[in-house]
Parts: sequence; structure tokens; C-alpha cells
Amino acid sequence: MTINILFSASSESWEKYKQPLRTELDKLEIKCQLGPNFLPEVVDYIIYAPNSELAEFSPFIRCKAVLNLWAGVENITGNTTLNIPLARMVDYGLTQGMVEWVVGHVMRHHLGIDLQINSQDGIWRPHVPPLAEDRIITFLGLGVLGTSSGQALRQLGFKVRGWSRRKKSVDGITCYHGNDGLKYALSGADFVVLLLPNTPETENTLNRETLGLLKKGAVVINPGRGPLIEDEALLEALDSSQVGHATLDVFRIEPLPETHRFWSHPKITVTSHIAAATRPAYSAPVIVENIRRGENGESFLNLVDRQSGY
Ligand code: NAP
Repeated sequence: MTINILFSASSESWEKYKQPLRTELDKLEIKCQLGPNFLPEVVDYIIYAPNSELAEFSPFIRCKAVLNLWAGVENITGNTTLNIPLARMVDYGLTQGMVEWVVGHVMRHHLGIDLQINSQDGIWRPHVPPLAEDRIITFLGLGVLGTSSGQALRQLGFKVRGWSRRKKSVDGITCYHGNDGLKYALSGADFVVLLLPNTPETENTLNRETLGLLKKGAVVINPGRGPLIEDEALLEALDSSQVGHATLDVFRIEPLPETHRFWSHPKITVTSHIAAATRPAYSAPVIVENIRRGENGESFLNLVDRQSGY
């Protein structure tokens, strides 16, 4: 029987994905119909992005899995009409994109690049930055993205710490876990990079108390999700110079409203949720591999644990 694959995301995404998906499906000789419109009762797989209008999954009675195009799944994990496996996106393009973004933004502050760019005024300033090994970088979240970014910075010589929910051991990274571990992970850190999922447990992980644990003047880098940081506490910490700068890619409301204080704050850099995009050429093979697995009765890759929310 021909399988039907519903593509449920924005119409612009469909234009970008239809060819890479078709190419991968043909490579694996998966006989199927692929498109943005099917009757729910004939759909076997849903390729999904949270910008789709689909919110009611009950009519998809023969569907075997929902394959999310994004790494973050907070918009769908709580959907009670979804009772089939949900896979999130893990692929080379996302990981490499995040590694490059995190390393770039850390190096900007580590080397004091802003000062150099803004001081081309004829005044000789022999300001030598410390070596990477003299800086501590803490990753909140030691999953696919936190681990890869942390290891890249470790390669450059930084002292890297990481914090996760469960106990972990990662080469080159000093690992902490659980509530107690958070204070050890943050104490005296020069940088904190947030790569946690957005769940009820992770909301406001950086707050007045935890921001106070960082080294004075530390840099906060958030490519994870907006709710991980208590906004007011961050603004206070910036104003008191407990935090020297915050580079934020994600926000409680996106796009970040034009009038939001973050845009004009001299110690905040806003980027527009671009740290790591899902790229069709890298994600299509992962989606299609999951369809192949579904058709062969094998377990799906990158399944979301609905209980823990990520
Ligand atoms: P992941 O592999 O699922 O890793 C999540 C990490 O967070 C794991 O180490 C997990 O601990 C930890 N964690 C979860 N809940 C926790 C808690 N309550 N306390 C302590 N640690 C907790 O996720 P990922 O692929 O690395 O992605 C991380 C996040 O990045 C995504 O959820 C998404 O929000 C964000 N993201 C942003 C962009 C962007 O463009 N800005 C792009 C992609 C992803 P365990 O290891 O113990 O499970």
C-alpha cells in the first residue's frame, strides 16, 4: 500500500522541503505520496513544525508518528490529542550551526572584540585578553547541542562545565546534575550558555539567586529558550554589573516586540532566533530514515519523552 506523508508546516517551508524530501524518499525507495493536503484518516506520517495550523491529532487514526522539524518541542508535548510517537529534530546542520554560533559569541566577549571595533581612534591600547584556559564556561543543558558546543570550546582551551537533569559523564567537561549541581556549575563562571529545553522545570533557571553565583561581570548567552531566564532579574544583574553582557537569541515573545527594553539595552545583544536553523538538506535524510524505520517496525530516532517534556 502507498503511504501518505503529510507535510504540516508553513507554505514557505513546503517549497524548501519538497525536493530534498522527495530525493531522500526515492533514495530509500519508499513508495509514497507526499504533500500538504490529505484527509486525516489516510495519513501515515506527519512531518510537522510548530508554525503549522495543525493542533488536533485525533482524526489521524492510522498515523504512526509525528516527525518534528524543530529541536524544541514545547509547543506540542502538552497536546493531549497526540498519542503516537513524537520525534524531534537532531541533525548535523542544527548541531554545527549551534556550535558555530555559540563559539562565535563566546569569542567576541573573550577577546573583547567590541572594544577593538569601537576604538579605532588613534589611541594605542595594549590590552591583552586572558587565555581561554583562564576562563570558565558553564553549559546549562548537556544534550546534543550543549555537549557539542562545550566540546568545541574545550578544544580551544576553555574550562568547560555542564549541567544536566540526570548524572552524566562527558569527555573534557566537568559535569554536574540536579538542583544541588546547579550552584556548583554556576559558581564563579565567566560565561553561562543556556541550552536547556523549555519545560515547567527549566523556567527561570537563571534568576536573581543563580545569576548571583556567576563571577562578577560574567556573560550570559541564551540560544535555548526565552523562559529559561527571568527577564527582570537579568536586567537588574546587568544594571548592577553582576552580568557584563547578555547575548540573547530566544525570547518569551517572538518576534521580540519592537518596543521591548532588550532592543535598546546597551549591554544586550539581540539575535533573531537564528542560532541554529533546521536546514532541509540535513534534516530531510533524518526524517526519511525515521519513515523507513516506521515502515520496518524499527524504533524511531530522537523520540521525545512526553513525561519529561523534551
Ligand atoms: P537535548 O539533547 O534534549 O538536551 C537537553 C539537555 O537539557 C539535557 O542535557 C537534559 O538533561 C537537560 N535538561 C532538561 N531538563 C532539565 C532540568 N530540569 N534540569 C537540568 N537539566 C535539564 O536538547 P538539545 O538538542 O541539546 O537542544 C536544547 C535546546 O536548544 C532545545 O530544547 C531548544 O529549545 C534549543 N534550540 C534552540 C535553537 C535556536 O536556534 N536558538 C535551535 C535548536 C535548539 P539530561 O541529559 O539529563 O536529559
